[in-house]
Amino acid sequence: MKVPLLDLKIQNDALRPEIDGAIKKVLDSNGFILGAEVTELENELAEYCGTEYAIGCASGTDALLLALMALDVSNGDEVITTPYSFFATASSITRLGAKPVFVDIDPQTYNLDASQIEAKITEKTKAIQPVHLYGQCAAMDELVKISEKYSVPLVEDAAQAIGAEDGKKRAGAMSAVGCFSFYPSKNLGAMGDAGFMTTADEALAKKLFALRVHGSFERYYHKWVGLNSRLDAMQAAILRVKLPHLDAWTQKRQRNADNYRRLFTDAGLTEVITLPFERENVRHIYNQFVIRVVPSKRDELRNFLTENEIGTDIYYPVSLHLQECFAYLGYGENDFPESLKASRETLALPVYPELTVEQQAFVVAKIAEFYG
Ligand SMILES: *Cc1c(COP(=O)(O)O)cnc(C)c1O
Repeated sequence: MKVPLLDLKIQNDALRPEIDGAIKKVLDSNGFILGAEVTELENELAEYCGTEYAIGCASGTDALLLALMALDVSNGDEVITTPYSFFATASSITRLGAKPVFVDIDPQTYNLDASQIEAKITEKTKAIQPVHLYGQCAAMDELVKISEKYSVPLVEDAAQAIGAEDGKKRAGAMSAVGCFSFYPSKNLGAMGDAGFMTTADEALAKKLFALRVHGSFERYYHKWVGLNSRLDAMQAAILRVKLPHLDAWTQKRQRNADNYRRLFTDAGLTEVITLPFERENVRHIYNQFVIRVVPSKRDELRNFLTENEIGTDIYYPVSLHLQECFAYLGYGENDFPESLKASRETLALPVYPELTVEQQAFVVAKIAEFYG
C-alpha cells in the first residue's frame, strides 16, 4: 500500500470542473491583476478569520514581510520569534535589517514558550512574531498580555493555521497582523503561490493595501517603498472554489488525528512515540500530524517508512539559529535546546483529508513492525 505524505490529486480532481470554470471566467474577463475575484476573496477571508480586513498578497513569505514593513520594522530593530519554524519566519525580519531575537519553544506544543519572552524584550523590540506551528495556535492569551504590557505589537505567522482557534478567537484575529499562506500544501492551497494578511485596524489595513502595490494609494505616487506583491486573480478565483470546502477538509484532518491517537494507543506504541499535544480550548487544524521519536531512531524510522512507500517529512531539520545565513547573529548550538531537540526528534506523518483509515492502520502497523 502506498501512503503519500500529501495527495493533492484527489481533492483537485473532485473540484476540477468548478476550477476550470473559475479559471475560464478570469481568462474571459482579461483582468489578471487584483479586481473583483481578489476583492471578493478578501471579504470572504476576513469573515472566515473573524476579523475586519483581509489583504491578499503574493505569498506567505511576503505577508510576513509586508506585516513587518507596515509596523515600521527596520534597521537595528529586534523582533522576537521562534527558532523552530519555516525559514520565512526569520528571513522576513532580517530582510528589513532587523534582528531575529529567538526564544525557545515549549516542548509539548513546539510553539513559542511565552514564559521566556519578557526576559528578551529591550528598547529595540519592535514586534513579537509567534508561529501557530502545525495548525495549533501559540499560547495567545499570554502573548497578548505581554504585548499589551510592553506596547509591542504581535504578528501571527498563521501560515499553517487558517481556521485554527485559541479560545473563541481565530488565528489572524488575535494580533496587529495575521499572516497566511496559500502554498499548495497548506490546508487551503492555491495552484501556485499566494498569501494574505488580516488585521482589525483600519489604518494598518490601508497601509497593507498600499504596501502590496509599491506603497502607493494613487498610481505613480508613492508614500512608501512597498513591494509588488499581489494575490493573482486566477489564484483568487481558484481559492474561492476551495474555501467553502475548507471546514469539511479540516474536520477530516481532525478525524485522522483522532484515528492515529487510537491506533498508536491500541498498538501500544505510546511509550516510544510521543503524540501531538493539544492544548485545552483550541481548534487544532492539523496542517501536520507530528510525532516525536527517540533521536537515534528518527532517521532510521523515516528510512524504514520510505522503503515501505510511506511519505513523511521533517518540519524542521535545522533550527533557524543554526542556519548558515544566520551565523552572523552569533547564536550557539545549544542556545535553544528544545528547538534543537525537536529538530532531531520530530517526524510528520500523512494526515491529509482524503487519507483512509486503512492507510493510517498501515502506517501504524509499519511503525509497530519497526519497533518489533
Ligand atoms: C508556508 C509557511 C510560510 C511561507 O509561506 P509561502 O507562501 O510558502 O511563502 C511561512 N511561515 C510558515 C510557518 C509556513 O509554514
